[in-house]
Amino acid sequence: SVRTRFAPSPTGYLHVGGARTALFNYLFARKHDGTFVLRVEDTDEARNTQAARDAIFSGMSWLGLDWDEGEGKGGDYGPYNQSERKENYDRWFEVLREKGRVYEDGGAWRFRFERKPVTMNDLVCGEVTIDYRDESNTPDMVIRRSDGSYVFHFVNVVDDLEMKISHVIRGEDHLMNTPKHLQLFEAFGAQAPQYGHIPLIMNPNGSKMSKRDVGAAVADYPRQGFLPLAVVNFIALLGWSSKSDEEIFTLEELVERFSLEAVNRAPARFDAEKCAWVNQQHLLKLDGPAFAEAAKPFVEQAGLPVNGNYPAIAAVVREKVRLLSEVPDAIGFLLQDDFGYDADALEKVRGNAAAKDLLSALATDFESLSEWSADAAKQQIGETAKAAGAKPGQLMFPVRVALSGKAGGPDLGDILGLLGKERSVARLRRCVA
Ligand code: GLU
Repeated sequence: SVRTRFAPSPTGYLHVGGARTALFNYLFARKHDGTFVLRVEDTDEARNTQAARDAIFSGMSWLGLDWDEGEGKGGDYGPYNQSERKENYDRWFEVLREKGRVYEDGGAWRFRFERKPVTMNDLVCGEVTIDYRDESNTPDMVIRRSDGSYVFHFVNVVDDLEMKISHVIRGEDHLMNTPKHLQLFEAFGAQAPQYGHIPLIMNPNGSKMSKRDVGAAVADYPRQGFLPLAVVNFIALLGWSSKSDEEIFTLEELVERFSLEAVNRAPARFDAEKCAWVNQQHLLKLDGPAFAEAAKPFVEQAGLPVNGNYPAIAAVVREKVRLLSEVPDAIGFLLQDDFGYDADALEKVRGNAAAKDLLSALATDFESLSEWSADAAKQQIGETAKAAGAKPGQLMFPVRVALSGKAGGPDLGDILGLLGKERSVARLRRCVA
């Protein structure tokens, strides 16, 4: 049965590259009705932090990548923290010692490579061979340090073996480690998992993306107004494509379509604009109430009053924003009467005598409307303009500025309908006062 794992080292924040590795392992496991294990490779005491551990768990949870075994879940192959597995490592070290595959070198212990070519058939990268006959290029490796601790290669292999991992999907930076791992599996007399090394992620300028680059930290996405599913979708496209024009997927659709054969060998390019676009596509899939609910924390955070009319108000900007963090600014003028004006837009209205006259006339005409609706108000704009010998279009911009303080925004009819008669009239008057 398929068993995959995500094996992060808790030394920094969960970054996009790590999240993508987690996602691909998750998708592969789910697709094959397998098991997805979360193992924490916390052997580097000096660099591990609790904050980094928490960032891994909370980042994965936010993304919706639930694991089956590991932290908080238990499982038959624990412990799932390497720091708690010393006995396991000692046991397998003894196996190698009994087989004569290790020797002491100044207090440390080296693993004796078999001097032969080792070929791996990577599920993404294809065939890769390392020739261990060349001893100067491939000296026997230290697996146990003089302080009794074990190196990454050793513990990584012991854990994959004991946890019965069937497929290792990890970053291409580990490709050249894998022949070493295959040597260890063979020495243990165990069958190695299959490996798939996924391409590096580059910045738009072609440099390798690092933890410090913009967009690198998964923890930044929630507060920037991304939906978890949009981030998952975007991350999936870093090195994988559906082989069709489709790019917007739910998690279930990703599970259904994902395959390692469709992972590219070429480096993936991180494009923040694309990420925002993907988010917009997912926002468009939400209905009005769901969108309003998702945007609510941002609106509250901005100190805006969230009243009973809020869901209807939020819904009118659903198609206008790419990030939920844009919502407060987009709807602030609908939630409260005290709003600022865009200086340029206001100047265009106030510096135009004809526009001001039109706004005053419209305020009076609005007041005498017996029934208020978006349609009735819009019709009145046409009539007021006509009566003054102007085109309706000449009045639209000043009305928009007067009602919203902005040059652009939601449909004018939506604004008029939501504000109602009194508030619309008051805003027209305030603008020309
Ligand atoms: N702890 C290693 C890393 O974060 C895991 C490598 C692997 O997946 O095998 O790079």
